Amino acid sequence: MNENQEKEPLDILVVGSGPAGLCAAVYASRANLNVLVAEKEYRGTGQIAESDQVDNYLGLPGINGYDLGEAFLTHAKELGVEFYEGMADGFTNEENLWMVHMADGSTIRAKTVIYCAGASHRRLGVDGEEEFAGKGVSYCAVCDGAFYRGKETAVIGGGDTALGDALYLSDLCEKVYLVHRREEFRGQASTVQQLQEKENVEILTSAVPAKIVGEQTVTALELKDGRSLPVNGAFVAVGMQPQTELLRGVVELDAAGYVVADETGVTSAPGFFVAGDVRTKALRQVVTAVSDGANAATSAAEYIKKVWQ
Ligand code: NAP
Repeated sequence: MNENQEKEPLDILVVGSGPAGLCAAVYASRANLNVLVAEKEYRGTGQIAESDQVDNYLGLPGINGYDLGEAFLTHAKELGVEFYEGMADGFTNEENLWMVHMADGSTIRAKTVIYCAGASHRRLGVDGEEEFAGKGVSYCAVCDGAFYRGKETAVIGGGDTALGDALYLSDLCEKVYLVHRREEFRGQASTVQQLQEKENVEILTSAVPAKIVGEQTVTALELKDGRSLPVNGAFVAVGMQPQTELLRGVVELDAAGYVVADETGVTSAPGFFVAGDVRTKALRQVVTAVSDGANAATSAAEYIKKVWQ
């Protein structure tokens, strides 16, 4: 069934309801545009929900990431933004109209698309990672940390996510190893300092994971230099991969798979805009995601005026 086929096309279909998508929807709604947000996860707010503490969002120091995401969602809902629970599966364009083919078989027609699907967790790529996923290997400390209360864990990575995860786990776990492959950290120096002051955190640099071992669940993380860390859990925080597989052949992507676009969100395909972590940019944070959402909605509104009115 395809109810949407019979209706007037939407002005804007926003794909993804993280901070970028929700901010785009808020701006679109306030501009009196007919906007719908498609989100694969029921009431999802993206990666932000996995952050224990967000200390750099202006005006709200120390806010819990989940609460910040919920506040964004509530704001959009209070403005009357509507949501569609479903996963986009492909995009085609006919005479300036975008057809968004959903995994459930429906097609949503829209004058513009703002794609804000974010990024997914990169895999470490060592033996045992897949075997023990969900049985000692986790990609979200805030989601799974409580299972490791009083136990020993390792966090792998040297960016802000790994540092934040190690800090979060240090309040729950008996011992936390922070395992980073280089000497210098990519994440904020102030968090590294906080970790150095924690008695139950051991920081291992120039330490390259080789294998995650266990029986029913994880028992150790083996390093390439031969060391074996006795841990019950391994938290992998080695960066993100943009969720842009569907966009190959639709818009221009860079070598790493990010959509080529500046802060206006304008892509190589007319009427197709991007916002948030999926676009080429230097700083991927909540504050830059919401700013992208506002800009992309404004660009979409200008495009609709020019092409459709
Ligand atoms: P990231 O900054 O890309 O860091 C990934 C880390 O994983 C790097 O230290 C990298 O090592 C390491 N790594 C990558 N592949 C590896 C492998 N195969 N084996 C071992 N280590 C590997 O990713 P992120 O920490 O998820 O952060 C993503 C973005 O979100 C960043 O811009 C970050 O600032 C932002 N963020 C902000 C906050 C906040 O402000 N509250 C919180 C979380 C994330 P190398 O350093 O050697 O490359």
